Amino acid sequence: MKISLIIPCYNEELSLNPLYEELKRVSKEMSSYEFEYIFIDDGSKDKTLSIIKDFALNDERVKYISFSKNFGKEAAMYAGFCNSTGDYSAVMDADMQDPPSLLPQMIEILQTGDYDSVATRRVSRKGEPPIRSFFANMFYRIFRRATNVSIVSGARDFRLMKREMVDAIVQMCEHNRFSKGIFGWIGFKTYWLPFKNVERVAGQSKWSFWKLFKYSLDGISAFSDSALKIPYFFGGLSACASIAPLSYLIYSSVKYGFWLGNTAIASSLLLFTLLIVSTFAFLSLGILGSYVSKTYNEVKNRPHYIVAQTNKKDVVKK
Ligand code: UDP
Ligand code: MG
Repeated sequence: MKISLIIPCYNEELSLNPLYEELKRVSKEMSSYEFEYIFIDDGSKDKTLSIIKDFALNDERVKYISFSKNFGKEAAMYAGFCNSTGDYSAVMDADMQDPPSLLPQMIEILQTGDYDSVATRRVSRKGEPPIRSFFANMFYRIFRRATNVSIVSGARDFRLMKREMVDAIVQMCEHNRFSKGIFGWIGFKTYWLPFKNVERVAGQSKWSFWKLFKYSLDGISAFSDSALKIPYFFGGLSACASIAPLSYLIYSSVKYGFWLGNTAIASSLLLFTLLIVSTFAFLSLGILGSYVSKTYNEVKNRPHYIVAQTNKKDVVKK
């Protein structure tokens, strides 16, 4: 049995050595399994690639795929799945926030034959800014409501999956990728393994608050078109907001003749209605525009990633 570990790396020169030491330790502990470590260098600007190449010199389990530029973690994970050959595969962050020491327990659960994957979820968010935790929890609630895909609060991308599941993920070749949603969408039986949050071993997070915010909106739109129905709601609200000024205008026209009532009130009501209606109209246009732009990107069908260097024979390019 072979286990493929997919490790997306973007400027991870400080984390790679402790991670590799830990991977070697855990692999030794699980000596009945063959291992493959697929490091995806996502266009790093530091020494990430040369460190990985050094690992590969003395260890044939180490494979690397280096991108021509930074394509993002989603593209890196996809490249890993497309190139993994193991009976089981897992994505693992380079910063050891996905503890390799959980692997023996994960494989043990899979070996019972009751589950197709073992996924990890953080039960604490210690060390994370409270505002980030608040928005993360809110996102999970909105995502579950807007889509019919089940994702668990605190779910990590770190999960050990059977070959059948990995093949299903590879089949999902959309460009607006949101892996947590994809894992939920493809189905299969998943065991949730809780663990306490671990802080990054070295270096800094690559995700700013706004990058995460945008990623979460993209995640929702990748799995739900509910937002496209919001304009109906705006339409209803605009209609309601128009009733009061309209009634006043009719009343004053009947009583005093058209425009002869209180023109100051009439014109401010008109302005108010105009502002509300145009705000809703532009918001609706924005929602429509974001779906059109996503469709545009899918239709162009550009490659997910471009490989600049690799030590893998027959590397799969998507
Ligand atoms: N990562 C990547 N490409 C990117 C950003 C991040 O491959 O554009 C990798 C990064 O090297 C790490 C993992 O994705 O292995 C998670 O990133 P990070 O730790 O910065 O995210 P956080 O844990 O803070 O959410
Ligand atoms: Mg991290």
